[in-house]
Amino acid sequence: MIDLHVHTARCRHATGEPGDYVAVARERGITAMAFSDHLPLLDGSQSDYAMCWDELEDYVADVVELASSSADSGPEILLGIEADWMPGRESETAAVLETHPFDVVLGSIHMLDGWAFDDPRLREGYEEWTPDALWEAYFETLCDAAASGLFDVMAHPDLVKKFAYWPESAPEPLYRRAAEAFVAGGAAVEVNTAGLRKPVHEIYPSETFLCICREAGVAATLGSDAHSPSEVGMDLDAGVELLRACGYESVVLFRDRQPVEVGLA
Ligand SMILES: [Zn+2]
Ligand SMILES: [Zn+2]
Repeated sequence: MIDLHVHTARCRHATGEPGDYVAVARERGITAMAFSDHLPLLDGSQSDYAMCWDELEDYVADVVELASSSADSGPEILLGIEADWMPGRESETAAVLETHPFDVVLGSIHMLDGWAFDDPRLREGYEEWTPDALWEAYFETLCDAAASGLFDVMAHPDLVKKFAYWPESAPEPLYRRAAEAFVAGGAAVEVNTAGLRKPVHEIYPSETFLCICREAGVAATLGSDAHSPSEVGMDLDAGVELLRACGYESVVLFRDRQPVEVGLA
């Protein structure tokens, strides 16, 4: 089993040091784990969601060191980063990603027009939108992000469902557009089990969305989005079950930003 989405205390809304996560991963039989703390936002805003710029080099050094000290005992440790899609800042994002030795870059949409729609403290923002308009805006942004080619993986691809504001219109056309954009940008889809721990109580993405990705030929990864060591590997068996239900027989991990296929364990 792989877990390509794990945070640490460095991103300010998670707890635990990197070594604590590795110990739990080893205990739970995770074979490869990617740390994926949040890249600081390029506009310098909202630092309570991410590490500061002056911490990035330490983060990289810590993970690289853990990767080498875990080489014999396992799990394989990969250097990942979760990067927000910042429209209009593509070249700056690319420059930061290219100048660090990341194995895997997760692309995420956490904000629409500067509103962090996944922050439970900001839920009143939902009153400004009809669910249909919100889903349309979210998926348009997701498609732009995926098609940019900046990201290896699109993380929690239907995060807009987090608080269960479902659209009235059937979402399949949105899912199809997203899957096409994943193909165009060469991004894998992440099966992220954190949704089970949120008000929506289901994995990101939905079975319908994941099956559409499968039909479009999009590769898949797996992640717990752990924000504490105890969440490492959480519910990944349910993620595997969902992958199988959509016809996936393998997932991919990334080394040096190149996909490597591994069987579903
Ligand atoms: Zn995220
Ligand atoms: Zn995350």
